[in-house]
Amino acid sequence: MEMADVGGNRRKPDRLRALGIVALNGMFDEKDAAGVFRQAVDLLADELAIVSSFGADSAVLLHLVSQSDPSLPVMFLETGKHFAETLVYVETLKRELGLTNVVTLRPDAADALRFDPIGHLWETDPDSCCHIRKTEPLDKALAGYGGWITGRKRFQTEERGVLPHFELTSDDRIKVNPLAYWTSADVEAYRTRFGLPEHPLYQDGYKSIGCAPCTSVVSEGEDPRSGRWRGLDKTECGIHFDFNARIATPTAERELTLYRNGRFLADPWRAWQEGDAADGVRYTHVPVEVFLEHRDILMKNPHPIGLYVAAGDRIEDLAGDLGRFSSIAIHFPAFTDGRGYSTARLLTERLGYRGEVRAVGDVLHDQIPLMWRVGINALTVTHSATKKALERGELNAIPVFMQPMGSELEVPAGTRPFLRKPAETERA
Ligand code: SF4
Repeated sequence: MEMADVGGNRRKPDRLRALGIVALNGMFDEKDAAGVFRQAVDLLADELAIVSSFGADSAVLLHLVSQSDPSLPVMFLETGKHFAETLVYVETLKRELGLTNVVTLRPDAADALRFDPIGHLWETDPDSCCHIRKTEPLDKALAGYGGWITGRKRFQTEERGVLPHFELTSDDRIKVNPLAYWTSADVEAYRTRFGLPEHPLYQDGYKSIGCAPCTSVVSEGEDPRSGRWRGLDKTECGIHFDFNARIATPTAERELTLYRNGRFLADPWRAWQEGDAADGVRYTHVPVEVFLEHRDILMKNPHPIGLYVAAGDRIEDLAGDLGRFSSIAIHFPAFTDGRGYSTARLLTERLGYRGEVRAVGDVLHDQIPLMWRVGINALTVTHSATKKALERGELNAIPVFMQPMGSELEVPAGTRPFLRKPAETERA
């Protein structure tokens, strides 16, 4: 959708969204958590989820939920590594606050078995451990939501010191932080005022509570979250990373080139770069030859990875490994080079690949309908006229085709009428 302003100029919806976020951030007093919470409920209605760790400060946010609507979905990441006291606290808060829709999210059992068979991944590779236990389950659960509320606060860490009430994330969701400006004294005062139950470990010196192996007691004067992943260069579990380990930046600040499902989105994926480590890359399109060279390591890498297929690469050689890739980027080197279409058909028709298949390179307006026909479902668009055409929803249709598609009920126009007949009958 595009809108015209009073001067008749065209403005992009993502820019409007970002401007809306800026306006929202100016609407509330710093400490007006209830107002921010209400605004999130009004704005997102049944597309809103709340994410809670049921940790040391969680009772305040969950009390706001109970005051607003106890049936709002509250996501709890049950990593399998929590303190027993936390699991008891979940039940206590559910009961005392009357929360009726706490959704427990667990890691994918096959991933856990594959990447962490003995349960010590937190020790050797905590990023990956958080990824399979927190980031992936939450990503899946949030797929149907337009936004979520968190309990993050500025005082917790230096990195969170710039947290706003409202963020527009690069996956185009609205993230709301009603308690962003609260101090630990505000939290304490609120808890006392409403008689909210305290986490059983709080008085033992645990001021921020996550998984048991990665949480330690905090001394007087330390940041509350300094007891998390103590001694490691890690301050966040990953669910608040915006693909680059920083707090989300509004998408309007980025150049959006990924076109999918009828709109432009921020692109979580990047290209493989020289010096990248096969065991650590994430959201990266790995070229076919690099994948073949480092196959064993990349198969064990727990992060989402994609594949980059250049013209002339033999995708059929990787038929057994395609399930490893969340996205496959097919390079179209020139308008006149049709090899990318063959690769896409091979992938989606013969090899049965069902993930993201994106076209990159020379992606031009006239090619796009043909690309959709061969199973491509996303585009990286840098050509400005093509981008504008897509933003306006102007794509050429193909009324006549000469080659049937295996994935569709089609027969070529003007030929083989005996084939066309049953197809038309079925269609009717
Ligand atoms: Fe694993 Fe620790 Fe992350 Fe929990 S906090 S998921 S145990 S690394």
